[in-house]
Amino acid sequence: MGTPRTVQAPETSAPPGEQPGIPAFDLVVVGAGINGAGIAHDAAARGLRVALLDKEDVGSGTSNWSGRLVHGGLRYLEQGDVRLVRESLREREILFRLAPHLVKPVPLMMPFYRHNRRSSWTIRAGMIAYDVLSYDKSTSSHFVLSREKTLARSPGVNPDGLDGSAIFMDGQVVWSERLCVEVALAAEAAGAKIFTYAKVDGLIYEGDAVRGVRFLDQLTGKRGALAARVVVNAAGPWVDAVLAGDRKTNQRFIGGTKGSHLIVDPFPGAPRDVVYYESRNDGRLVLVIPWGERYLIGTTDQRFDGDPDEARADASEVAYLLGEVNGLIPEARLTERDVLYTYSGVRPLPYAPDKSEWNVSRSHVIHDHGPGQDGLYSIIGGKLTTYRSLAEETVNVVFGKLGKKAPPCLTADLPFPGARVSDWDAYRDDLARSSALPRRAVERLVSLYGSRAGDVAALVAGDPALAETFDAGTGAIAAELVFAFTHEFARTLTDALVRRTMVGFGAGCAPGVVERASDILAARLGWSAERKAAEAAGYRRYVERYALPGAAAGRGAEGPAPRRNANAA
Ligand SMILES: Cc1cc2nc3c(=O)[nH]c(=O)nc-3n(C[C@H](O)[C@H](O)[C@H](O)COP(=O)(O)OP(=O)(O)OC[C@H]3O[C@@H](n4cnc5c(N)ncnc54)[C@H](O)[C@@H]3O)c2cc1C
Repeated sequence: MGTPRTVQAPETSAPPGEQPGIPAFDLVVVGAGINGAGIAHDAAARGLRVALLDKEDVGSGTSNWSGRLVHGGLRYLEQGDVRLVRESLREREILFRLAPHLVKPVPLMMPFYRHNRRSSWTIRAGMIAYDVLSYDKSTSSHFVLSREKTLARSPGVNPDGLDGSAIFMDGQVVWSERLCVEVALAAEAAGAKIFTYAKVDGLIYEGDAVRGVRFLDQLTGKRGALAARVVVNAAGPWVDAVLAGDRKTNQRFIGGTKGSHLIVDPFPGAPRDVVYYESRNDGRLVLVIPWGERYLIGTTDQRFDGDPDEARADASEVAYLLGEVNGLIPEARLTERDVLYTYSGVRPLPYAPDKSEWNVSRSHVIHDHGPGQDGLYSIIGGKLTTYRSLAEETVNVVFGKLGKKAPPCLTADLPFPGARVSDWDAYRDDLARSSALPRRAVERLVSLYGSRAGDVAALVAGDPALAETFDAGTGAIAAELVFAFTHEFARTLTDALVRRTMVGFGAGCAPGVVERASDILAARLGWSAERKAAEAAGYRRYVERYALPGAAAGRGAEGPAPRRNANAA
């Protein structure tokens, strides 16, 4: 078994020049969300010496809390942002090709209701534009269904005022957490150094030039510093927080908006497609999304000025989303009792106080802080879908700042670490034959880890007890917990459960598995009794964020509302 990967602060706090031992890089990236990880990967693949830091885990910020669609963004056409739609559609196609185990095509239904503010002709014109802008797509073009065919395909949708629907294809990444982890793994394989739980709390200057960062390892309490010729602040909704207190920063960049999702089990009338529909109340577009074995209902869009770590679904959002889904699917009759848990994230949108939340641009900006803070850039905005192109653009800028000609970007052709297989059925069959694992475990491992499933199975070959299923709900096996620490940067039990094995997204946020999971890790990684108790307590504290307002976290484990018959599972 490998030793756990500990990515801790080098012990020094002196700026470059004063202490020669300080690690030096071409580029330091602050924030290992999808954008920071993507920038680190691209830069390292093009030969730069790169360090990537996150105050918590890889992908633990907004990238953990999105709607998980890899989409062109049909609604951005309403904002006239044709460039963003084309970019998103191109990137969607690249992700289908490079990460087929994580990003999959998914059909969306857009019902035409007489109460819609957007007429069916407007929607159809939008669909045609969407098809034209995705001329190089591998998925099919949109088609229109009559009222009868719409009801035959989705019997649960409200027939009142329904004229028909349009069906079109987009992409879904069920586990965006694993997308972030794989991008970080690719960055590391290309040579990047990755420091998790490393909170950047100061910039290092040489005159007016930013020449590195100081940080605090949140788990060990050690301080560290890294020197770099360029620093990219990719801290998502924390971009301003990273700059706060710096003597040279007095501008606000981020005008975050909070978006919440509700997670429910399949319910009566539940659709088989993602349904993307107009709210009867306010004309916003709302989504009911089949998500693995469950459904995501979202999202909201509220200005948020607090700490993004404290963003939680509030009672008004829960009532709004339940009202919307019950309006679309009357037999659903969902209540708070049906909500297994919620999650909320803050969109790192540009500060635009004069615009409504709905109308703030979803395009990104690479802000150059020079000349006063030469060598410092901040990323404002950016979607999960477009992280790769954002990274390409950013790394071109970094090369310019370094005074070097940028070599061609490679990431549009580099398969993800878990995508190195051409025949997935044959891979599954081989793994089932060569490992002693049951078929269910093999299916699960391949769906989460892609072609790296064999590396998880190799741990079991060395220690057969790691074949133990520690979570009956998902079928997760003990080897995955160890793998999270030895192969995937996990440093806490929460990392392993929430962003590696995905067990933390079980029905009740998996409170029942915490003890067993911490026992397995304590035995394999040599945790003391205190460490084990602290890890379990840390996880329980963490999942409190999923609770319905006013409810205890993990109520699904106590027994969610009795499941009613579902039309779709
Ligand atoms: C409700 C909602 C729905 C969405 N749906 C979609 C969707 O369906 N499709 C889509 O493409 N996009 C969607 N998005 C947008 C997308 O999720 C985000 O734009 C994207 O994830 C932002 O990634 P990021 O890397 O910039 O930020 P983050 O993921 O927030 O990463 C920033 C990282 O910086 C770290 N950090 C912060 N401060 C420090 C510090 N001091 N030192 C070190 N590290 C630090 C944080 O821990 C964090 O991990 C949605 C967003 C929301 C909120």
